[in-house]
Amino acid sequence: MKQYRMYIDGRWEDAASGRSFESFNPYTGQPWALIPSGDQDDVDRAVTAAHRALHSPEWRGLTASARGALLRKLGDALAEYADHLAEIEVRDNGKLFSEMRAQTSYMREWFYYFGGLADKIEGSVIPTDKAGHFNFTKHEPVGVVAAIIPWNSPLFLASWKMAPALAAGCTLVFKPSEYTSASLLEFARILDDVGFPPGVFNVVTGMGPEVGAPLSSHPLVSKVAFTGSDATGRKIYASAAESMKRVTLELGGKSANIVFADANQDNAVKGVVSGIFAASGQTCVAGSRLLVQRSIHDQFVERLVDFARTAKIGNPMSADTQVGPVTNLPQLEKITGYIDIAKREGATCLLGGKRPEAPEFENGWFVEPTIFSNVRNSMRVAQEEIFGPVLSIIPFDDEDEAVAIANDSLYGLASGVWTEDLRRALLLPDRLESGTVWVNTYRTMSYLTPFGGFKHSGLGKESGQEGIREYLRTKSIWISTATETP
Ligand code: NAD
Repeated sequence: MKQYRMYIDGRWEDAASGRSFESFNPYTGQPWALIPSGDQDDVDRAVTAAHRALHSPEWRGLTASARGALLRKLGDALAEYADHLAEIEVRDNGKLFSEMRAQTSYMREWFYYFGGLADKIEGSVIPTDKAGHFNFTKHEPVGVVAAIIPWNSPLFLASWKMAPALAAGCTLVFKPSEYTSASLLEFARILDDVGFPPGVFNVVTGMGPEVGAPLSSHPLVSKVAFTGSDATGRKIYASAAESMKRVTLELGGKSANIVFADANQDNAVKGVVSGIFAASGQTCVAGSRLLVQRSIHDQFVERLVDFARTAKIGNPMSADTQVGPVTNLPQLEKITGYIDIAKREGATCLLGGKRPEAPEFENGWFVEPTIFSNVRNSMRVAQEEIFGPVLSIIPFDDEDEAVAIANDSLYGLASGVWTEDLRRALLLPDRLESGTVWVNTYRTMSYLTPFGGFKHSGLGKESGQEGIREYLRTKSIWISTATETP
């Protein structure tokens, strides 16, 4: 079994307690790596190092252009290791190699983009109304950032935080999910080779309550950048309020994918299937509620089920696999639990609804792509995030009803609209309460575009120019130009 160490202050360290835990491969159900199990002592060491680095001449003394150049160098190095990093992620979270490879090769763009932005963070000179005064603003790094990430897309989501934070001049302490810690430690090795000063970037591995909680409440941390469930997000928000920390929260979703009678149905079927079954439904933006206009409901659902039935379940490393295992055992139990709830609530199971039975799936944590019809939006299966390959279908009559159902959710992460009506494509997004709306596409994302949820799906934005503002604070400076103080 591979033994990993944490990365603190530019050194590879065991946990202060000497403890470690096993990381499992969801395809085999077997452990493959040992990860240090950190606690408050390790968090203290890492945050102290990050705080020292924040003010060090090696980091604070760098020009913004030099910081940008380091980030771009990191982008180049990532391009070289994209396959290796994707393989590690698949071993830990079971997502398809093709999907993880697409992420690990695309994430360098965040480092190029924010590397380019580092020396374009400009303050303003304010035309003040106070005679005899000069007033201007500067944007400073917010300070030490605690970055906490989930298991579904570890490095991609880490890059969304790391690139703008480093471009802004912050330092970071990362806590990866206990289910997928290895890839961020491999990433730290690449970052170390690129030559970032010690303490600028640290990784402390371990459990949420033992590492995440002391990290997000640490007095030397100024900002918490969190991606994960809304339950954990609420705890982090409450503890950040106690110590006046800034936060960005990227949380869960129950996104509605709305298919109108005037949609291109071939495209809509493909978009709906990949929207829910890609990554076995373990994406925050999964289009888990399908709203279909009643006039096309029965024939559209039939096409959808026929298409979804062809999905090939299997080894996530194989190029022809379309649905891999789910990432961990608690997640498997949660998904199968929700399938039972949906059946008890009276939904009709049209596809799947169980674990695949073939011997090759005996050890892995698989669930069949599952489709329920006859779902009412008030059912738990339509209101609660399952984070698995389970689609709930709800009919609607007209646009007003579709909007009402889509917005009747605690969440507001994303929504999809399938229509050939230009007016509807342009105007309907205004009525949907979600941070992203896709029209005739689904799951499209870019480093150039701000991403973040409304309502219980979160606070703040990642990526794009808005992304860097989350890691800056503005200082206003007044200078009297009077020769004599009045
Ligand atoms: P989770 O909330 O259980 O864990 C996320 C991270 O928080 C892990 O590293 C965990 O160890 C840590 N943590 C747990 N308890 C903590 C505590 N008390 N204090 C601080 N940290 C703690 O979420 P998960 O199951 O790993 O991930 C799945 C969730 O992530 C889903 O809800 C999904 O929608 C969400 N997600 C959101 C986005 C987005 O961009 N909006 C992206 C991906 C995933």
